[in-house]
Amino acid sequence: MSETRYNAIVIGGGIVGLAVALEITRRFPRLRLLVLEKEDRVARHQSGHNSGVIHSGVYYKPGSQKARLCVAGAAAMVEFCREHGIPHEVCGKVIVATSIEELPRLEELRQRGEANGLSGLRLIGPEELREIEPHASGLRALVVPSTGITDYAKVCEKYAALISARGGTILTSTEVTSLKRNSDEIVVETSRGAYTSGFLISCAGLFSDRVCRMVGDEPGVMIVPFRGEYFDLVPARASLVRSLIYPVPDPRFPFLGVHFTRRVGGTVDAGPNAVLALQREGYRHSDISLRDMASSLAFPGFWRMAAKNWRSGFHEFYRSFSKPTFVKALQQLVPEVRAEDLVRGGSGVRAQALKPDGTLVDDFQFFPSRRILHVLNVPSPAATASLVIGKSIVETAARDLGLG
Ligand SMILES: Cc1cc2nc3c(=O)[nH]c(=O)nc-3n(C[C@H](O)[C@H](O)[C@H](O)COP(=O)(O)OP(=O)(O)OC[C@H]3O[C@@H](n4cnc5c(N)ncnc54)[C@H](O)[C@@H]3O)c2cc1C
Repeated sequence: MSETRYNAIVIGGGIVGLAVALEITRRFPRLRLLVLEKEDRVARHQSGHNSGVIHSGVYYKPGSQKARLCVAGAAAMVEFCREHGIPHEVCGKVIVATSIEELPRLEELRQRGEANGLSGLRLIGPEELREIEPHASGLRALVVPSTGITDYAKVCEKYAALISARGGTILTSTEVTSLKRNSDEIVVETSRGAYTSGFLISCAGLFSDRVCRMVGDEPGVMIVPFRGEYFDLVPARASLVRSLIYPVPDPRFPFLGVHFTRRVGGTVDAGPNAVLALQREGYRHSDISLRDMASSLAFPGFWRMAAKNWRSGFHEFYRSFSKPTFVKALQQLVPEVRAEDLVRGGSGVRAQALKPDGTLVDDFQFFPSRRILHVLNVPSPAATASLVIGKSIVETAARDLGLG
C-alpha cells in the first residue's frame, strides 16, 4: 500500500474524532488509519474549551441518543480516567430551583433521570441544600450524585497517545481543503498534500457542515457557533462552591444556563453563557468573519431562529458585555457572590446544528453516506459520552458502509 493510501481517515482531532480513531484501532487493529487535524495539536477547539463536567444523563429525553450514550459514556469516562490516571472526581451536583415556576420542571428532571436509569437522585429542601452547598440558596434542589469532573484536554492527549501506540497516524497542522469520492476510494486534499482512503469519518466540529458539502453531500443543517464565556471565582472566594451548582434549564434551549463548576485543579468557573458568535472559531467579541456571517444570513433557518428567539438572544448578547447582569444570574444560585469575586475567564464555542425550520437539533446526529460518515451534531454531553459515541459510530460505519 502506498504511503499516502489508508484504509480509514478521520477528519478532526477533537474528542469525538479521536474516540472514533481509538475505537477503529481497537476493533480493526490491522487497518491503516490516519487522523487529520488542522491545528498544531489535538483538542484546540470545543474539546479543550469546555466545562470539564462528566454529565450524568439527567437532562436528556428518555430514548434519545444523548440519554443512552451519556449514561453509558459517563461510566466509561470515569473508568477510563481511573485506568489511565487522569485527574477526575465523581463529586455530584445540585440543580437548584429558585422560583415556584421551576418546581414542576425540577420534578420532571428527576423523572427523566430515573427513566434514564440514574440512581441516587433526590429532591431536597433548602436546609439540606445548605448542608451540601453552604452558600447556595433555593426553594428545592435535585441532587445528582453520579455527576463528575475531569480535564478533557488531558483525556484527548491520552486518546491520541493510545492511537499512536496502536499504529494509527495523527497528522496535526494538516487542514482538509477538498474531498473527492471515486467509486472505490475517497481522495482527501489537504494543506500538506493528498491522501486516499477506503472510508472517511468526518468529525470536524464547527466545520462539519462545510466538510459534508465538500464532497457534495447535503447536511440539511447549518452549524451555528454559540460562544460560552466564563468568569473565574477569585481564589479567596472559591470556597463559595464545593462542587457543581446548576440552575433548572430553560426547556426552550439546549444549553444549561450559567452555573458554577469546580475544576479538577480546584478553581471554580462561573458560566458559560450562550452568545451567538460572529465567527465559527470566534472566542472573543472582536472575532468576526464575514464569510461565516454571510453563510449564516443566507440560511433560511437562521432567520426563523432569530425571529423566534430575538428577545432572549438580545438579552444573552447584552449580558455578555454586562458583568452586573451576569453576576445577577449567578446570585440567583449563590446570593453571596459579588462582582469583585469574579474575573473574566476563558471561552469556548459550541457547534450547534440548526434546521431550516429554525429549530436547534437537540439530539446527536450522524449521517452515513457512501463510504463516508458525517458527524453533524455532537454538542454537550459529547465529551462525556465520547468513548461510547466512538463505538456507536464505528459500529454504524462497519454495518452501513462496510468499514472493516
Ligand atoms: C463552552 C463549552 C462547554 C462544554 N461543556 C461540556 C461539559 O462540561 N461536558 C461535556 O460532556 N461536554 C461539554 N461540551 C461539549 C463538548 O466539548 C463537545 O461536544 C465536544 O468537544 C465535541 O467534540 P468534537 O470532536 O466534535 O469537536 P472539536 O473538539 O471542536 O473538534 C473538531 C476538530 O476538527 C478540526 N477540523 C475542523 N475542520 C477541519 C478541517 N477542514 N481539516 C482538519 N481538521 C479540521 C478542528 O480543528 C477541531 O480540532 C462543552 C462545549 C463547550 C463549547
